[in-house]
Amino acid sequence: MKPEKINTQKKVVVIGGGSSGISVVASIRKRVKGIDITVIEPGDCHYYQPAWTLVGGGLFDINETRRSMRAVIPPGTAWIQDSVVRVEPGPKYVETRQGQKINYDFLIVACGLVLRWDKIEGLEETLGMNGVTSNYRFDLAEYTWRLVREMQGGEAIFSQPPIPIKCAGAPQKALYLSCDHWRRQGVLNNINVNFCLAGAAVFGVPQFVPPLTHYLKKYRAQVNFRHNLVRVDGQRRQATFSLDGDEEGKREVTLPFDMLHVVPPQSAPAFISQSGLTDESGWCDVDKFTLRHKQWQTIFAVGDCCATPNAKTLAAARKQVVVVAENIAAQLNGAPDAARYDGYGSCPLTVEKGKVVLAEFGYDSKLLPTFPLFDNTHPSRMAWWLKAWFLPKFYWAGMLRGVEWFAKSKP
Ligand SMILES: Cc1cc2nc3c(=O)[nH]c(=O)nc-3n(C[C@H](O)[C@H](O)[C@H](O)COP(=O)(O)OP(=O)(O)OC[C@H]3O[C@@H](n4cnc5c(N)ncnc54)[C@H](O)[C@@H]3O)c2cc1C
Repeated sequence: MKPEKINTQKKVVVIGGGSSGISVVASIRKRVKGIDITVIEPGDCHYYQPAWTLVGGGLFDINETRRSMRAVIPPGTAWIQDSVVRVEPGPKYVETRQGQKINYDFLIVACGLVLRWDKIEGLEETLGMNGVTSNYRFDLAEYTWRLVREMQGGEAIFSQPPIPIKCAGAPQKALYLSCDHWRRQGVLNNINVNFCLAGAAVFGVPQFVPPLTHYLKKYRAQVNFRHNLVRVDGQRRQATFSLDGDEEGKREVTLPFDMLHVVPPQSAPAFISQSGLTDESGWCDVDKFTLRHKQWQTIFAVGDCCATPNAKTLAAARKQVVVVAENIAAQLNGAPDAARYDGYGSCPLTVEKGKVVLAEFGYDSKLLPTFPLFDNTHPSRMAWWLKAWFLPKFYWAGMLRGVEWFAKSKP
């Protein structure tokens, strides 16, 4: 289909100006002329979150991960700086916190997810102090690096909540880069490293478990499965975990720490379920192939807010935005859905400075390597170069501007 053939007055509203929201606007604009697109986004800034893990390891400049929202919104696109509080799919409008009602012909839900710091007792008041940090926040990733740099001995804990979370590998990426630094400084032997995760496996796709287990052993990290962080006492430097799977269901264990890297539980923004757009999990209930809402034909979703069973990653969003853009363009042409999403997601596991295990997989854990000639289950320098150098540059100059390399959808 030649994009320039479609010309329309239809109105698209996009909820969220994050990675998927901005990219989907750029991809639609490539295909459809004259379309009226409005982005509703409360924030002043746009973030490249995947590099925050590198910032926490002292390997990336935090300032390179943020740009003004105005600078990334594609030309000709309206921006309403507000939050959506409700979608009315029948009459086809959204309502914002400030009380505006905005009509749409097509709605794209791209609002990401909510980090539930509040679900861990005592956490919010001690974040950024007392050795408690998280790479999941722009303002804390540098604090992680300060703690890592200053640590000469003691107890380090890295926690991982129940899934789904965005970039499920990020909790252990923080561990690997910290341990690698301590190893290079010759202090790793003085540090007890605990990886406490709510689940029962270090990674969801079995092929990637052996290389990760190798690094966990190399760094002498104690792996504690079914340990779910429920309470933090920053003053006393104690972290309490509920032992999920315990028969009584209420046994807890408290561990001391000098450094605690927390990844919080995560959920879908509440307005999605309050607008009746969810499945029972609370995420936006779209078809896992077409990304079109199962009940409402004019609603699509992209990115972390989707109920689709893929890894919630920017890599997934990169492919999803093309599918949504193609399917909207097809509908405007009176054609059936043109594209299908195969569940692709990717997690570049930074197992040490200069080496990455590039986990790429789709629905049902099917391996989907971008470069099939390379064995992705082994750490590689080329994958590190992709993660640390190429992808951040490509993000700002390519993905946000509708460049769709390696993201072509499946017909
Ligand atoms: C530490 C870390 C490491 C990561 N590493 C990787 C990696 O290596 N590789 C990878 O592929 N991915 C990685 N990710 C995941 C990746 O960043 C996300 O999957 C991606 O940003 C999802 O894009 P999104 O548009 O769905 O959400 P976001 O980019 O989070 O954007 C959501 C936007 O919606 C807005 N919004 C929220 N609610 C509303 C509302 N009610 N109304 C209007 N707007 C709203 C928000 O303000 C926000 O701007 C990582 C993430 C983190 C935190």
